[in-house]
Amino acid sequence: MRLPELFLERMKELLGEEYELWLESCGQMPVQGIRVNPAKLTPGQWEQISPWEIRRVPWNLNGYYCQEKSRPARDVYYYAGLYYIQEPSAMAPAELLGVKPGHKVLDLCAAPGGKSTQLGARLEGRGLLVANDVSASRAKALLKNLEMAGVANICVTAEEPKRLAQVFSGFFDKILVDAPCSGEGMFRKEPELIKSWQERGPKEYVPVQREILKQAVRMLRPGGELVYSTCTFSVEEDEGAVDWILAEEPDMELVPLALWEGARPGADKKPVIRLFPHRIRGEGHFVAKLKKRQREDGGSEGGKAPGEGVCRKDEKELELLEQSDYLEWERFLARPFDRHRLTVQFGQVYFLPEDFRRDWGFRYLRTGLLVGSLRRGRFEPSQAAAMALKSGEFARALSMDREDERVIRYLKGETVFLKEGEDFSKGWVLVCVDGFPLGWAKAAGGSLKNKYYPGWRWM
Ligand code: SAM
Repeated sequence: MRLPELFLERMKELLGEEYELWLESCGQMPVQGIRVNPAKLTPGQWEQISPWEIRRVPWNLNGYYCQEKSRPARDVYYYAGLYYIQEPSAMAPAELLGVKPGHKVLDLCAAPGGKSTQLGARLEGRGLLVANDVSASRAKALLKNLEMAGVANICVTAEEPKRLAQVFSGFFDKILVDAPCSGEGMFRKEPELIKSWQERGPKEYVPVQREILKQAVRMLRPGGELVYSTCTFSVEEDEGAVDWILAEEPDMELVPLALWEGARPGADKKPVIRLFPHRIRGEGHFVAKLKKRQREDGGSEGGKAPGEGVCRKDEKELELLEQSDYLEWERFLARPFDRHRLTVQFGQVYFLPEDFRRDWGFRYLRTGLLVGSLRRGRFEPSQAAAMALKSGEFARALSMDREDERVIRYLKGETVFLKEGEDFSKGWVLVCVDGFPLGWAKAAGGSLKNKYYPGWRWM
C-alpha cells in the first residue's frame, strides 16, 4: 500500500512521536467485527451459540472481533439478523449518542445502515428512527439492513438534508451525522480509497460536511444531542467541522466524551474521541458530541413538525384488510398490531411508527414496518414482518436446528419437507433457526411451500 506524501506529512504532524507506530500498523491486516443485535439476543446468549471463535470489542457491549475465515456473511445466523458485520471502531459513534426507547432519532447519512441498525435496536420498537441517505440506491441497502435487523419503527428516506430540515425544524431528540469523508481510516481495508483521496481529498468534503451539519442543527430540538463522526483522520474534516459549527451556531455546545483505553483526545486536546489502528484493534474513527442548549423559557423551537398525525384516509382499505384472511394470520401473533397505526396503501399493509405524520411528503423508501400485502382478499405477510418478530412471538412456527440441512434449502427458496411430529394444518408458518425467525412458508400436506423473499435468497 503506497500512501500519498501529503497525507503522510499531515499524519506526522497530527501524531508526533506515535507516527512510526501508526505507519507500521498500516501494513497490518484490517480487523473484522460483528455487532450482535440486542433486539434478538443478549451478548451472553451469543457467546453460548457463536459458531466461531470471538473476542469482545472493549468499547461496545455487543461488539466482537471475528476472523476473516469465519465468513460471517455466509452463516444462517446472519440471515436470522442476529448480528451486523461492522468494522469495530465504527461501533463507537451510535453508542455515544445515548438513544433511549421513545426518542425521535435521525440518522442523516445512514447507508448502508451499520449505525442505523444500532440506533434502531436502542429504541426497542418505541419512538421513531428516520434513516436517510441522499443516495437512493444506497438507501435501498439501508432499508434491507434495517429490515433484516427487525427494526420496525422506521422511515427510510433519500433526501437532501435541507429538504428534511424544511419539515423537521427542532424535531429530533438525537441526531447522528456520520458524514461522507475522505476515508483515511479505511485505506487499510479499502485501498482503492487512496486513489479517490488523491483525486478529491479532504478539501472536497469540507463544504459538504458543513452543510450537512448546519441542517442537522436546525432539526435538533433544544436540549437534544448530536454526534458527528467520520472515518477519516483529517483535522479539517474532524475538529475543523466541530469548530466551524460551534462558531456558526451559538446555541450549540461541545459535550466532553470520556476516553477509554487506547482512545485519544482530539487535536489540541479537544474532548472528542479519536481511534487509531496503532492504539486499538480497529481501523480508525473520529467522534464528537454536541448539544443544543435549552432555551431560557424552556420552550421548543416549533417542536412538532406540522401535520395531521397518523389519522387515516384509507378506512375502506382497512375494512378490506379486516375482511381478508389477515385476522386468521394475526390470531397467531403474541401481540396484534395496534389498529390506529395500521394503514393500507395500494394493497400494502404498513404499521406506522409512533410520531409519524402523513403529510411530511418525502421521497420514502419505507414508512414503518411493511406487514404484508393484500391481493384479492388474501393477505400475505412480508419478509420484514418475519424479521421483526422475536422468538416465540408467532404461535405457528417450525424451528430447525442450525445443522439441519433444510435450513439452507429453505434460504435457497426450496420446499421444506416436514419430519415426523412436525404437523401443521393449512396456513402460514414462521420458519426459524434455533428459534430465531428466518421467514414465511405455507403449510400444505407434509411440506411447507417456500415463501422466503426471493431477493434475499442464499446464493
Ligand atoms: N452511517 C453509515 C453506516 O454506518 O453504515 C455510513 C455512512 S457513509 C460514511 C456516508 C454516507 O453519506 C454515504 O452513504 C453517502 O451516500 C451519504 N451522503 C453523502 N452526501 C450526503 C448528503 N449531502 N446528505 C446525506 N447523506 C449524504
